Amino acid sequence: MIPKSHPRYESLMTREKIIDGVKRGITSMQGLIAEGRGEAFDYLMGEKTTKTALEAEKVAASLLLLAGRPVISVNGNAAALVPDELIKLGEAVNAPLEVNLFHRTEGRVNMIIEHLRSRGARSIYTKSDAFIPGIEHERAKVDSDGIFNADVVLVPLEDGDRCKALADMGKRVIAIDLNPLSRTARTAHITVVDNVMRAVPNITGFALDMKLSEKEALQKTVREFDNSENLARSIDELTAHLRSIRK
Ligand code: ATP
Ligand code: MG
Repeated sequence: MIPKSHPRYESLMTREKIIDGVKRGITSMQGLIAEGRGEAFDYLMGEKTTKTALEAEKVAASLLLLAGRPVISVNGNAAALVPDELIKLGEAVNAPLEVNLFHRTEGRVNMIIEHLRSRGARSIYTKSDAFIPGIEHERAKVDSDGIFNADVVLVPLEDGDRCKALADMGKRVIAIDLNPLSRTARTAHITVVDNVMRAVPNITGFALDMKLSEKEALQKTVREFDNSENLARSIDELTAHLRSIRK
């Protein structure tokens, strides 16, 4: 048991969730390493949602509301950390979920589908009958009605190669990645540099607030967003945070 009064309670709880995911077989061992890298960037950023991240979260919500066939991709880390939050986001923006694993095994895919269903997910794409072009066989498998056919895909913690392959298919890709330097961050159309634990509820909050907004207003929000500029500001915020500590 971690006491709530611990100064790094949130971060330690996140670790427990990932470890629990590994023990249950829904998260891969590699997922532990990915979490560690994410934690390091979160630490450098001050373990909070920055103003820049909040802006990207609003744009992400706008694009999801505008999408005709949005899909939320779920990997082993996201399934362990934010299953309920992803289900709520899916309901808020009418986006089904699809399990999409880097270290894919049918066993783990099915376990995550069951995990999401037991948490109340009703809309999940479960076929693996199509392939993302340019990616090797196992990693390329997707549902022909889901990610393959989607116009907008939200990928929390996606690998750089697959993120690029999805963008090359003409999809609009929204990534959540604490590392503003990663290939994923640089190839996505909208990169939310924030912890998935904070990012997903924030995007849902914006989506619920803007649900009744005019289409034109949402389109304007998306059009005015510049991802490279947003990433540059994330790096500025990280360095400003470090300087404030150094003083
Ligand atoms: P790329 O292939 O895009 O260059 P990478 O190889 O650095 O990325 P991976 O190991 O493929 O990274 O995936 C892990 C990524 O997920 C890291 O960039 C890490 O910062 C990010 N990450 C891990 N945990 C979280 C989290 N809880 N919230 C947000 N991002 C996270
Ligand atoms: Mg990678």
